Amino acid sequence: MSGKICLLPETLTHRIAAGEVVERPASILKELLENALDAGATEIVVALERGGCASIRVTDNGEGIAPEEVPLAFSRYATSKIGAFEDIYTVRTFGFRGEALPSIASIAEVEMVTRQAAAPAGTRIVIKAGEVMELSEAGCPVGTSLFVSRIFDSVPVRKKFLKNDLTEQGACIDALTRLALARPEVTLRASAGGRIVLNLPGVTELAERIALTLGKDFRGQLVPAEGSKEGVRLRGFVSRPDFTRSSAAQMYLYVNGRFVKDYLLNHAVMTAYRRVIASRRYPAVVLALELPIGDVDVNVHPAKLEVRFRNPREIYGLIVETLNRAIGADAKPGAAAAGLGMQGRGATAYGERVEEALKRYRVSTGSEKLFFTGPVAAKRDVPPAAPASFTPEPIAAPAEPPPEEIPEKCARETIPAEEGRGLAERRYLGHAAGTYLIFADAEGVLLVDQHAAHERIIYERLRRRAAGERIAGQRLLLPEVISLPPRDFSFLAESLPILAEAGLEVEPFGGDSLVVKAVPTFLSHAEARTLILDLLADCTEADRRLALTDRRERIFTALACRGAVKANRELSAAEVTALCRELDAIPQAATCPHGRPLCLFFSIAELEKLFKRR
Ligand code: ADP
Ligand code: MG
Repeated sequence: MSGKICLLPETLTHRIAAGEVVERPASILKELLENALDAGATEIVVALERGGCASIRVTDNGEGIAPEEVPLAFSRYATSKIGAFEDIYTVRTFGFRGEALPSIASIAEVEMVTRQAAAPAGTRIVIKAGEVMELSEAGCPVGTSLFVSRIFDSVPVRKKFLKNDLTEQGACIDALTRLALARPEVTLRASAGGRIVLNLPGVTELAERIALTLGKDFRGQLVPAEGSKEGVRLRGFVSRPDFTRSSAAQMYLYVNGRFVKDYLLNHAVMTAYRRVIASRRYPAVVLALELPIGDVDVNVHPAKLEVRFRNPREIYGLIVETLNRAIGADAKPGAAAAGLGMQGRGATAYGERVEEALKRYRVSTGSEKLFFTGPVAAKRDVPPAAPASFTPEPIAAPAEPPPEEIPEKCARETIPAEEGRGLAERRYLGHAAGTYLIFADAEGVLLVDQHAAHERIIYERLRRRAAGERIAGQRLLLPEVISLPPRDFSFLAESLPILAEAGLEVEPFGGDSLVVKAVPTFLSHAEARTLILDLLADCTEADRRLALTDRRERIFTALACRGAVKANRELSAAEVTALCRELDAIPQAATCPHGRPLCLFFSIAELEKLFKRR
């Protein structure tokens, strides 16, 4: 990277979706680290004060910035990394939006000293409240050092939402760890309050970096995983099946050097492991996927944690195959069918898992913001004459116990996917216990859990809405004012953007009160106040600690559960029809958002077996 810094044309700035770059100290640190790496640094030193809440210093030995370009680096959309919109398809650097430095400078004080190798002297710039206070020549080593202080001082609301220093420091160390694992050759040192918290010499072996970063006990537990297919390459290390973790926190996945939290990739990893580790256990993995830059779109997510692939199915297959090989899962009888062309029951289960992952992937990456055309982007056609939506009358049912995570089961939990054959076309016979809808026809018997099904429908709508699909919100005639205990208030206030995505228009209303102004039509049968209070009850302490981007899923799941029709309520025939239509519009809906099956299908052959007719 040695292009000059230039302003992106205005048209371009509008086309690159602006993202909230600066959410917390760790997001500032991440941007600064990425800039250092983009500048070719081989050594980076980080100093945090009060966990990054008071100040963050990042010093690198990268190429530095020419004196005349220093002020430009702080103008919005100034980047040296791309020059035309098309470039964002080919960009190899971390940054390209030119948003980070100006965003940081708008919420904190920034001092930067920088020098290029050929320059006789460096430059010092001080920016306060977005204004350049000082710009002068300065003596300094080659490279760049940024000192960011008074973080969020000018944005008290944000400051209030910061967690305690230790939590923020933890998030900063996570950001460092993610980069450390991506770039073992870079020397990284970090201190917090003057105490060394990370000291990683540059190494050539990833295994060595993993041991130093994640702990020595990993060393003997990791096996190399390597595979490639059609220009896509997967490399890294994965844990042995007997070395599992209680959370997915140690699944580090990278796409072209960029850390991602990607549903599809995680799903593929879990598919490879599912037969060899217990449910609710997770492997530790550090996996790097390299693919032609044109085959992956990194501009999906503002924080760039999600990506979109041109060939998600192939990528999924490559991961499962490679990991199966690495952990020896394919050597076991009946293990997951790795190849897409495989036969038999294992292959069916695998096929369904892939479809499920791909389907959710399509939904989560949105239909409005498509980059690629082709099968991935193909929008599912919803029947043109949309049926009246399924909004049953509010009912006073006892609150349900929190749903248990149910381990995945056999392949029967899906409606057989014959072409054009939807639920709505099956014969509805009645219900059992006001909970299970019963359908039967020449192919077999189908049972549908009405609550799980409705939950799924709502969840998909929330996701589609969040992905940009326009679904009308219903403004409340009388906005509902809810006053909350401080801890609930700050959690909700912090989550407002997510609620807004879901179509819940909620605003602060002075003190510890919030006002609900609109709810999405498909949730309008639930009382706004109850919905919000239930949501709070559903979100555990751990959920509340999640970063905003991770919290969305939890909130959507909770809203779907609360908005869905309860079990033990008899639906009218019209409601059943509406429910079926809506369910049909979701391709291969197999489980509720909690992962419970939403339907069970017994084919005639299976019934015959059960009745011992054959
Ligand atoms: P982006 O990284 O998206 O281009 P930034 O706002 O993060 O945008 O940075 C703006 C520009 O400032 C970069 O394009 C780069 O030219 C320059 N820059 C920022 N940090 C550094 C650094 N540590 N070393 C060299 N150049 C830097
Ligand atoms: Mg940057």
